[in-house]
Amino acid sequence: MPTFAAQFLEYFDPVVHTPASVHERLRQAFARLPFEILIIGWDLPSEIIAICAKETARQNAKLYRWHPLLSGDGHFVPRPEWKTIGASGQPVNGFKGLDEFTFACPNNPQVREAVFEHLQAALSATHYDGLFLDRIRFPSPANDPLTELACFCPDCVCAAEGAGLDLEFAQREIIHLAKSPTGRLALAEQLFTPGADLAGLMAFRQRTISAFIQSAAEIARANGCAVGLDTFSPALTPMVGQDLSALDAVCDWIKPMSYAHTLGPAGLPYELLGLANWLISGGTPETEAMGCLKAASGLELPASRSALREDGLPPSALENETKMAKRQGVRKVLAGIALVELENINRVPADLFPSELNAYHAGGADGLVLAWDLWQIPLERLEQIAKFW
Ligand SMILES: [Zn+2]
Repeated sequence: MPTFAAQFLEYFDPVVHTPASVHERLRQAFARLPFEILIIGWDLPSEIIAICAKETARQNAKLYRWHPLLSGDGHFVPRPEWKTIGASGQPVNGFKGLDEFTFACPNNPQVREAVFEHLQAALSATHYDGLFLDRIRFPSPANDPLTELACFCPDCVCAAEGAGLDLEFAQREIIHLAKSPTGRLALAEQLFTPGADLAGLMAFRQRTISAFIQSAAEIARANGCAVGLDTFSPALTPMVGQDLSALDAVCDWIKPMSYAHTLGPAGLPYELLGLANWLISGGTPETEAMGCLKAASGLELPASRSALREDGLPPSALENETKMAKRQGVRKVLAGIALVELENINRVPADLFPSELNAYHAGGADGLVLAWDLWQIPLERLEQIAKFW
C-alpha cells in the first residue's frame, strides 16, 4: 500500500481559513485519498491545529509539523550576520530577498543554538506525530555560483580547518574558474559531480548538513516525532550540500522535490535555467551550455532554454530521479508532486498527469507527497491519483 501525504496550509489567512472551511477541506480530501500523513504549516493558530489534529486522528493518519529549519519562518528571523557567505565574499541573499529563502550558516554556533531552541519550542508547544524538515541545505548556487556557492564564513573556514580542509583555497579556485567560459563549464559540472578542484569543499558541505539534520532529528525523536525530509531532486542534491545516503540514516522517509515544471526554488527547470543563464552570460553558446548541463546532470534536457522553460522535464526524467534516490539508499521515497497551477511558477500539464504518476511508480516511489498545498489542489486530482495507484 503506497503512502500518501499532503502539505497543508503553508500560509494562513483568517478570512479564508476558518475552522469550518479547514475541516471541510480535510473531510473532502480524506474521502478521496487515504492520506497516511498530513503535514501542516508552521504558522497556524492553535484552533486550526486542533482541527487538523482531530481529523487526522479520526482518519488514523499522522500529523506532521512542516518546519523550515535553516531559513526564516516568520517567527524565527535569522540575523543578517548569520547569512551564509558566497565564494565572492559577500552574504548570500535569499530568493527575491525573502527571509523564508534566506539561509543561515549551520556551522555558526549562534545559528545552531537559535535553530534548535526554536525547534524544541515548536515541538513542546503542540503535540505532533512527526516533523517534516524543509530548508535543510545551503543556498542553491545555480543562479550564480560565484556569489551563491556557500559557505565561506569564518565559522566554516574554522570547521573545515579542523577537518584538514583549506576552504580559502577552494574559494580562490572558484573565483578563478568563474573568470572564463571554460572555467565556468568546469565549475558547473562539478556542482553535479565534484572533481579534484571542489571535491573537498562539496564533501565538507554535505557532512555539515548531514550532522546538522541528525541533531534536529534527535530533537524530534526526543519529542516522540517521526522524521520526514524535503530534499532537492537527486541530480541537484550535491550542489546544495545534501547527501541522500547520509540523510536517509536519520529519517523515516524522504520527499525528493523532483518538480518537472516548476520555475521557483528547487524546481528542476528553475535551477537548471539559472545555471544555463550563468554559463551563457559568461560567453558560452546556448547549445553548449545546455549540452554541458545535460551531460553533467544526467537529466534529459532540451537543447534550448525556452524549451526547458515551456515544456519542463519529461516523465522519464522523474522516473530516473526516483530510481536515483533509491540507488542512493533512500528506503522510503515519497515523491514530491506539485499539483497547484501557479502562474509563472508551476504548471500542471493535464495530458502528462497520468504519465508522471506512472513515472514515479515505475521509478519505485513508495508513495507521494502532494504539494503545495492541499488547500488549492483540485479534488479531481486526488480522485485521479486514487484511481491510478
Ligand atoms: Zn558558514
